[in-house]
Amino acid sequence: MKNISIWKDSIDLKEYPKLNENKNVDVLIIGGGITGISTFYYLKKSGLKTILVEQNKIGLGITGSSTGKLSILQNDLIDKIRSSFNDETALKYINSQIDAINKIVKLILDLKIDCDLEKIPASLYTNNEFEIDRIKNLAAFLLKNNIRVEPSNLKIVKNKFAIKDDVSYVFNPLKFLNGILSKDDYEIYEKTSIIKIKREKNFYISYTDNYKIKSKFVVIASHYPYFLIPYFFPFKSALEKSYLSASTYNGQKLSLINYQKPFISIRTYKNYLIYLSNSHNISCKTCDYNHFQELLKKLEDIKLKPDYLWSNIDIITNDGMPYVGEIKKNLLIGTGYNTWGLTNGFLAGEILKDIILKNNNPYISLFAPKRFNLAQLKGYIGNICKNALGFLVGLKGKNNHYCSHMNCKLIFNKIEKTWDCPCHGSRFDINNNPISGPANKKSK
Ligand SMILES: Cc1cc2nc3c(=O)[nH]c(=O)nc-3n(C[C@H](O)[C@H](O)[C@H](O)COP(=O)(O)OP(=O)(O)OC[C@H]3O[C@@H](n4cnc5c(N)ncnc54)[C@H](O)[C@@H]3O)c2cc1C
Repeated sequence: MKNISIWKDSIDLKEYPKLNENKNVDVLIIGGGITGISTFYYLKKSGLKTILVEQNKIGLGITGSSTGKLSILQNDLIDKIRSSFNDETALKYINSQIDAINKIVKLILDLKIDCDLEKIPASLYTNNEFEIDRIKNLAAFLLKNNIRVEPSNLKIVKNKFAIKDDVSYVFNPLKFLNGILSKDDYEIYEKTSIIKIKREKNFYISYTDNYKIKSKFVVIASHYPYFLIPYFFPFKSALEKSYLSASTYNGQKLSLINYQKPFISIRTYKNYLIYLSNSHNISCKTCDYNHFQELLKKLEDIKLKPDYLWSNIDIITNDGMPYVGEIKKNLLIGTGYNTWGLTNGFLAGEILKDIILKNNNPYISLFAPKRFNLAQLKGYIGNICKNALGFLVGLKGKNNHYCSHMNCKLIFNKIEKTWDCPCHGSRFDINNNPISGPANKKSK
């Protein structure tokens, strides 16, 4: 059994050098996940001199540990957006997801990217009586807006009601990113971490340990943007961790998710079944080991054994909408995808390109990161309490390992052999190197 995601084991990724000189460019992109690479892809034709720096290796952040679904039945997120905003905004969001799926599929076909793309209807199900009406209501809303869904008959999980769409796909997210990069020359530097950004007159200076990058625009595509005071990101987001497995499986092709936390998300990939469960807020009191054990129990119930086990963390926004756009003059972010960042991260690439080039884009106002609404406000206190709880949970540990981001005590994840931060989700390998942000330096 391997303790990495199935995607990481499926491909030899392209390699890039470490930055070894100062740079002067138009656009600096920080982070080589789906957001950073999509932004680079979209900027490629603009003629702007662009470089991307990645603290570890391209794709191996959150993107490389996802479930690889391109779906519009995104658990209860559409309903969260309906209640934070209104039906009209929720419909715009759904259409943005359909648009993203269509654009990703077109790109895969145009560039002939071999990334195991398959059209598999996504199902949304519940086993709770009280959620049946919510799913029926969501289905009615979709049908009213000409988005086809129909009842779905699922056997692999206990369920009282399920619907399925006919627009969703699944793919291998790392083969997708690698495919984009293989079709053109991109100036990328790996093992290059940005540790500080300073505004000077009309440009930014971004610092690595040894070098400076001068640029007119900076795109922060680092998943958790840690250097954003006074943007107060911890107020605006929570972190959700889930546990995943891939097991040998030769049954029917599937893609399904339940309506509400704790999520169960399942899909097939070649002769494997990927099973996600036990999603929880990062500051949860139960350790990773117990969550993995619960996942194993669920696999046992369906007579499967894991070939791969891993965990992953995503950023949840207070109102359900991503944060994509300009937060200060020429300083842009793309994050907060509520576990649906393959569609949203790809869309972010086009939005950020359009903001830089001063083009119109229908999603600029939808995802505006400086928006303020009641749902945002309501989440602020809860998020700070969750961060504080994470800090307290860490204190209970007997080790002396501290996160280099804000000094929270780290917890050892016995299964993946990583040190994980219960406050803001940073992760470190056993040699103390950061493998997931916001931390960008070795743990202490
Ligand atoms: C369990 C789980 C399952 C998911 N499944 C799906 C799914 O099926 N479909 C879907 O649409 N979405 C899914 N998502 C969500 C999606 O995977 C993420 O939202 C998306 O991949 C985030 O992409 P990103 O580019 O923002 O971040 P990342 O992929 O993490 O990329 C950010 C990169 O920035 C680098 N970085 C960080 N700090 C620095 C720095 N200071 N200097 C340089 N580089 C830096 C990191 O090393 C990293 O490589 C899932 C999420 C989770 C947690």
